[in-house]
This record gives sequence, C-alpha cells and structure tokens, in this order.
Amino acid sequence: MLLLTCPNCGLTVEETELAPGGEAHLTRFGPASGDAEFEAYLFLRDNAKGVHFERWCHAYGCGKWFLAARDTATLQVFGTYSAQTKEPPAEILESIAKGRAT
Ligand SMILES: [Zn+2]
Repeated sequence: MLLLTCPNCGLTVEETELAPGGEAHLTRFGPASGDAEFEAYLFLRDNAKGVHFERWCHAYGCGKWFLAARDTATLQVFGTYSAQTKEPPAEILESIAKGRAT
C-alpha cells in the first residue's frame, strides 16, 4: 500500500484518496516552440525504475496538488513537497542519496 503525506493539509493517506498526475518537474513548451520540443513535452516520459518524482492530487481530501519522491520498484517514499517548487528540496535529495525515507 502506498501512503503519502499531503503537504497542503498534513494528512497521511492511502493512494486510493489520491489521483496521479504523472511525472513532476516537466519543462512546458507552448505553441511557439519547435515540433520536437512540443512532442517531447506531450509524450516523452522517463518511466524510471527507481527514484521518480511525481505529481499527485489529494482528490478526496483538500483537492490540492503536491509532488512526491518515491522509488517505483519498492514504493519507498522519500518525501512530499509543494507543487510550486521547480526542483526537489535539498532534504529530500539528501534522503535519496542516503537511501532512506524521511
Ligand atoms: Zn491534502
């Protein structure tokens, strides 16, 4: 079972209360960009086995989006953080490097 703590309301909930939003930290390209950049933005994803940064919505709770770092193979969660950040917080990168959850 995947348990994530919503950083917006502070509740720790099962994934059945959440809606997945795909890969986090994507660079968005608009209509003025080239075809290759726009195609990559729309369709190309890492699909990593291991540490992955993801978007989640607390759909059956506060309804707000947040980001999570977890291992896709073991479901180990390294932390959750605000969706308004452009890169993972230093403490989450530190716990990933140490290989343990926060
Ligand atoms: Zn919430």
